[in-house]
Amino acid sequence: MQVPLLDLKAQYATIKDEVLAGVAEVLQSQRCIGGPKVEELEKAVAEVSDCKFGVGVSSGTDALLNSLMSLEISAGDEVITTPFTFFATVGSIARVGAKPVFVDIDPKTYNIDPAQIETAVTPKTKAIMPVHLFGQMADMDPIMAVANKHGLAVIEDAAQSITSTYKGMKAGSIGTAGCFSFFPSKNLGGIGDGGIVVTNDEALHHRLVMMRNHGMEPKYYHKYVGANFRLDPIQAVALLVKLPHLDDWSQARRDNAAYYNQKFAGTVVQTPYISPDCETIYNQYCIRVPRRDEVVAHLHANNIGCEIYYPVPAHLQECFASLGHQRGDFPVSEKAAAEIMALPVYPELTDAMQDAVADAILGFLG
Ligand SMILES: *Cc1c(COP(=O)(O)O)cnc(C)c1O
Repeated sequence: MQVPLLDLKAQYATIKDEVLAGVAEVLQSQRCIGGPKVEELEKAVAEVSDCKFGVGVSSGTDALLNSLMSLEISAGDEVITTPFTFFATVGSIARVGAKPVFVDIDPKTYNIDPAQIETAVTPKTKAIMPVHLFGQMADMDPIMAVANKHGLAVIEDAAQSITSTYKGMKAGSIGTAGCFSFFPSKNLGGIGDGGIVVTNDEALHHRLVMMRNHGMEPKYYHKYVGANFRLDPIQAVALLVKLPHLDDWSQARRDNAAYYNQKFAGTVVQTPYISPDCETIYNQYCIRVPRRDEVVAHLHANNIGCEIYYPVPAHLQECFASLGHQRGDFPVSEKAAAEIMALPVYPELTDAMQDAVADAILGFLG
């Protein structure tokens, strides 16, 4: 049986008419940048995130970049983050000219290890950027404690974790700013690139809005050197159709995860650890297996989708060679990168498909 890693067509089939009607409305209006649909989406996402403000932007990457720029983080500053993440986290820090300072991860959750953050704080540290990886939030209480003690901003990279919770609090609502991505493979995915920053800080909200449009206010008067980080209403209408389904889709992912957990119980396959403080949205369902690369090759040979998130931790990426890191610097991240693999967990998966995935893995590993 063929099982894709993700099947966006299955989901689109259930909302096609509404999305097409929304797109037609935007095209008819010819209001193609910003406007009421973007504002409606901003309000709606802020609301489901228990935040006061939302600022729609061009991607999750630009949500991070806009947050860093609006917090005036630049050359000479340091930002503490995890090396075990998608490139955009660290790339955005480097792009404002700041130095990414890495702290290794917790081996169970794959999120930044809060116990190691304080020793990484220096007089140059301006912010902590925790990543809520795979749909599960980082351990925010101790992170906020260090941030508050040292007067640091906290930018939550919640690109994979919209509506996920930590002690009942929503992703993006705990730090200074929260960044979401609407990349099509995220739990709430657009029909192209998009993202949003949420915050409860009114002054920061104002700067985010200006920075998104060349730091301009009023028209042609520029207070900051901003950029074009704008979100288009075609994305907004599609996201507004999808948003009411998000909780059901995330629940379907949790149900699928529970099904796999049962299939893998008592085997060599290590299933995801979810902290009792967290409700995950399972953007990814990642297992650890012996002979990982052989298992991946075996699944691909059998038309079963899987992926390695992420094979190379940030401190070992070629573009960050100047930071001077080497293998062994962040051993927990390096071990995870060598052992982890993601399985299909999208909402429309059937039991038979999940059986095929699990049987292929368990059959191969004997
Ligand atoms: C997807 C993702 C981003 C970037 O989002 P884009 O919309 O693709 O720019 C940033 N951080 C993490 C952890 C992500 O998974």
